Amino acid sequence: MVKKYVYFFGNATAEGNASMRDLLGGKGANLAEMAGHKDLRLPVPPGFTITTEVCNLYYKNGKKMPVELKAQVEAAMKKVEGAMAKKFGDPKNPLLVSVRSGARASMPGMMETILNCGLTEKTLPGLAEKFGSERFAYDAYRRLIAMYADVVMEKAAGIEPKEGKAIRGQLDSILEKVKHENHYESDKDLKIKDLKTLIALYKARIKDVLGKEFPDDPSQQLWGAVMAVFNSWNGKKAISYRRIEGIPDAWGTAVNVQSMAFGNTGDKSGTGVAFTRNPGNGDNAFYGEYLVNAQGEDVVAGTRTPSPINKYSQSSHNKHLPILAEWDVKVYKQIEDIRSRLEKHYRDMQDIEFTVEEGKLFMLQCRSGKRNGPAAVKMAVDMVKEKLITKEEAVMRVKPSQLDELLHPIIDPVEEKKAYIVGKGLPAGPGGASGQIVFTAQAAVEWKKSGKKTILVREETNPEDVEGMRASEAILTARGGMTSHAALVARGWGKCCVVGCSEMDVNVSAKTLTVKGKMLKEGDWITLNGTKGTFYEGRLPMIDGTEDNKDLYDFLNLCDAVRTMKIRTNADTPEDARKARKFGAEGIGLFRTEHMFYGKNSEEPLFKLRKMIMSKSEEERRVALNELFPHVKSDIKGTMEAMDGYPVTIRLLDPPLHEFVPHNEEAQKSLAQSLGISAEELQKRADGLHENNPMMGHRGCRLGITYPEVTEMQVRAILEAAAELVKEGKKVQPEIMIPVVGAVAELDHQKAIVDRVYAEVCKKYNLKKFDYLFGTMIEVPRAALTAGKIAESAEFFSFGTNDLTQMTFGFSRDDIGGFLPYYLEGEILPEDPFQSIDENGVGQLIEMGVTRGRSIKPKLKIGICGEHGGDPKSIHFCYKVGMDYVSCSPYRVPIARLASAQAALKNPEKTTAKSSKPVGAKGSFKKTLKSR
Ligand code: PEP
Ligand code: MG
Repeated sequence: MVKKYVYFFGNATAEGNASMRDLLGGKGANLAEMAGHKDLRLPVPPGFTITTEVCNLYYKNGKKMPVELKAQVEAAMKKVEGAMAKKFGDPKNPLLVSVRSGARASMPGMMETILNCGLTEKTLPGLAEKFGSERFAYDAYRRLIAMYADVVMEKAAGIEPKEGKAIRGQLDSILEKVKHENHYESDKDLKIKDLKTLIALYKARIKDVLGKEFPDDPSQQLWGAVMAVFNSWNGKKAISYRRIEGIPDAWGTAVNVQSMAFGNTGDKSGTGVAFTRNPGNGDNAFYGEYLVNAQGEDVVAGTRTPSPINKYSQSSHNKHLPILAEWDVKVYKQIEDIRSRLEKHYRDMQDIEFTVEEGKLFMLQCRSGKRNGPAAVKMAVDMVKEKLITKEEAVMRVKPSQLDELLHPIIDPVEEKKAYIVGKGLPAGPGGASGQIVFTAQAAVEWKKSGKKTILVREETNPEDVEGMRASEAILTARGGMTSHAALVARGWGKCCVVGCSEMDVNVSAKTLTVKGKMLKEGDWITLNGTKGTFYEGRLPMIDGTEDNKDLYDFLNLCDAVRTMKIRTNADTPEDARKARKFGAEGIGLFRTEHMFYGKNSEEPLFKLRKMIMSKSEEERRVALNELFPHVKSDIKGTMEAMDGYPVTIRLLDPPLHEFVPHNEEAQKSLAQSLGISAEELQKRADGLHENNPMMGHRGCRLGITYPEVTEMQVRAILEAAAELVKEGKKVQPEIMIPVVGAVAELDHQKAIVDRVYAEVCKKYNLKKFDYLFGTMIEVPRAALTAGKIAESAEFFSFGTNDLTQMTFGFSRDDIGGFLPYYLEGEILPEDPFQSIDENGVGQLIEMGVTRGRSIKPKLKIGICGEHGGDPKSIHFCYKVGMDYVSCSPYRVPIARLASAQAALKNPEKTTAKSSKPVGAKGSFKKTLKSR
């Protein structure tokens, strides 16, 4: 049987449907759904889709189409002709088609499109007759010639013109010349005779420059256009967009051939783009823009300011323009009805494109609309309330990176009020951002390489700018609406963006921008508010934007309703602990004791710690430890209190001691004085602490083994803090964690100290017992290998994947920057293993650790506290291996709540297993109490 390569849609039928996006691409699948599904049957111009398989075969066979394709395309074209009662190439009643790309994932503006295909000298009179306008027909022909020469004859043919010599530019200058000679202001002023002149000039120039005639034959045009779309899959901008978005090259693009609907036949026609809800803030309101007398591309290109479709879509920028709801009441009502039918059908916000031809509405596209983070969260929450989707669906609708956008800073409103608004545009990407002005994408990329923060300022952006847009902190454009290229791309990435700041004049060659007489130049700092659409001179301070965000908290509650894995935080101060609690942390998974010696108010404890480090004898050390004790105890007590009875894992001192040796003379002097030794003696002691390889040196439990009194002081501080809180009637769950353990004997050595101090503290506070756990980090490969043995002495494991990655790869975590970029660029590693768990290597050790540990203690509490605990992909892995919790920095807690919920939904088999056989915190906690 011959393989099916072509799928027809139109006339209330379709051979494909929405579920076939892999084969038909997103656009093709949804055109089929809109045309053919019984609940929709929308007015879609008839057409057909050539599958993505053909694209792959085309490349596989050295850029040749499969032989069966021709007959299938001809048959489908016949059907389209039937549905339209027109004929492709017919001089009297010609059918014209558009030829567009359509990959599985949307790649806005990255591939090519040809409109008005099938228009020739012969068919032109028929088109003129149909619309009663010769001018319209000649104009359409002129546009086709220019587009075709550019896209098919030059780009797709692989011709790389010299700078400023591209055919499109040359044809445009001919147009400008004709306009200039006739003193015309715009294209609209061109008369039929001018268009005829232009057409002749265009054709001559094309022949001259490209060495070929413009093909005045419908079939040649069609095949040339199809091939050009396939070739554009491997065009520079498409490849670069795929790299950024992680879209596989092997997906290929489909080609959609569709009968033309003309939005540019006069004032009863137009074209628009709309969203069934506001993609900028999530409001449940119809939001869109349209252009009278224009073709689809004109809206996205942002070259004319579009009108709002209704009152809701008005902004200061476009409120002087007529709204569609008044301009054509009938069409607006029809499209509003389509809006609600589409939302009900797809159960998601849709991004739609439509054209009105002489008062008749046509739907050209619908797809799930891109939205920024705040909008994604609001829509998910609202749609659950509206009973449009389930809470599980809502959880899957928000990407962790979108949630991240809500956690990004916003401009401090107090400072913003005082600041002078330099310019205003449309709020296209949320949050605030400051950066130095650059005017080209290339500059944005280069400046970023040298560590600078930039704001890319453009008249308007186009797909060639994507890398620079990516490299900049934010984007500001002078032209374009909420559906312009800049807005679409920024929204997709959740990047701060202001578009259509029409009062701004951008001069790229002079590297300046001017607004209301104020001039700013390259390198000047500006601050953007992408939520309001304003910008300011200089750098305004940013603050946390999460306070009072009800949607965020409602959404996180939905996540909590489906997740089973707990989320803790890595926090070292009561302040961090409180922040993390607000974000929903259910405990502290890592309190790094040493961090209390850095940062705010740490001078005194740091001084005492240094004294302890520089001590020569146990006696000297004990004196210093006694002085240090109250600081450690009060910090831990404050943190445990802030955690409201949730578990707090306190890790004993870990880093190499020499890290704390003072380097400035003043500090050295006072330290020597306090120890009663000379400066030379202090220097000698400091030198003695030097190690060649400190990361593998005297750190972690090795410190506690060589200086048991250091462990003893810390354990006493933890347990006394806990005992006091218990006495005050508060609930506490301290967990004492030993770092850098590789052998069970190390752990047992420390355990003996803990047991002894526990008994002493119980006695001191007159308590029979109180709860605590004793456990270890698994961060040395040997610990993972011997996890069964270690589990005999530990009540919990916490995977320290920073060190585990370091020691498994043999990569120094502090020096990886020197070679990682080469590894990533050369694809030696797929990603930074310190950011996302290397599942094939380090992951094996983790799995082994979990399995072996639980083979001895089936309910052993297991978590992760390395940086990976905040990485969504790693969180999925942790879930799959059966961890009880992940622990991450406070600002990652919301993301971890979402990722953990998504992991549960994506692995239902694990979720059921977990709920029927809980290995949660409570079970293991009770058991350990009994064994105590
Ligand atoms: C780890 O090694 O993963 C860890 C959490 O400890 P640290 O980063 O403090 O070494
Ligand atoms: Mg570590």
